[in-house]
Amino acid sequence: MAMMLLDGKRVSEAFKDAAKKWIEENNLVHKIRLDVIQIGNEAASNTYIRNKQKACDYVGINMVVHHFDYGVQERDVAKLITKLNCDDAVNGIFLQMPVPEHLDVDYLIDCISPTKDVDGLTIINQGLLAMGDNGGLKPCTPTGVTGLIALYDIDVDGANCVVVGRSNMVGSPLATMLTQKNATVTLCHSHTKNLKEVCKSADILVCAIGKPKFFTRDYVKDGAVVIDVGINKDENNKLCGDVDFDDVCDVAGAITPVPGGIGPMTISALIHNCIGAWKTQQGDDCDY
Ligand code: NDP
Repeated sequence: MAMMLLDGKRVSEAFKDAAKKWIEENNLVHKIRLDVIQIGNEAASNTYIRNKQKACDYVGINMVVHHFDYGVQERDVAKLITKLNCDDAVNGIFLQMPVPEHLDVDYLIDCISPTKDVDGLTIINQGLLAMGDNGGLKPCTPTGVTGLIALYDIDVDGANCVVVGRSNMVGSPLATMLTQKNATVTLCHSHTKNLKEVCKSADILVCAIGKPKFFTRDYVKDGAVVIDVGINKDENNKLCGDVDFDDVCDVAGAITPVPGGIGPMTISALIHNCIGAWKTQQGDDCDY
């Protein structure tokens, strides 16, 4: 069976074209506003912010970046978030990860108003997701993963899905979303026994642990769908995923590349959430 490349870049470009058209047709160019908060000056954060800025510029969303020095006090970040929560001109608020260790990231995320929480990470939005309520904003990366799977018509209903990594941002909400799509989900982490065997049972394997090229062909069943969420640097400082793509690509039935897989899908999900937040704030259903 020929391997299928799950081209997140292409899918996400089509999505952005549709979003741009919708924004133009509704006379909303630069009227939807996303505020991004960056703390410190990490190279990775700078890249993520540049990519968001490019996507927002393209579709016509007004993105504003607020920058704090690495040593900022928690209360100063919280104060800005409160101000943005109260500002009717601001539709979405995004706290760029990673934040310095002296700050309580969960506390800061939860300062964001759930209706402006375009990363879907506040307790309210995570709770709504866990309850199966579609009214909340959903985390971007899991939305990107399920969106890509759906666009390639991959059947999730009844499939054995193994998700490796249980973070609040990626693995845990993704496991919930796949379960709600009637997959049988196993959520793995650093304490999982026999990880190779568990992964090898997967029809759909999602790798989200942040370890360069960790998943070799020994982890993959013949013909499985492999979704690589990881963004890492390899020994030559080149971008790579958690999956050893060259080793796995002739075993997998379908696979996402890094770059060009889940990264661009995550940005599309953010655009989707900004429009959804704007609609909810106008009193419409979040059904964009
Ligand atoms: P975290 O560090 O928050 O979580 C990592 C998870 O992986 C933890 O649950 C940890 O287990 C588990 N883990 C670590 N090592 C192993 C191992 N050897 N075997 C099994 N499980 C293991 O990472 P994130 O979820 O934030 O991110 C994961 C990856 O995805 C990173 O590379 C990140 O850069 C990338 N990412 C990509 C995005 C995109 O847009 N494509 C967006 C967000 C993240 P335990 O809980 O037991 O510690």
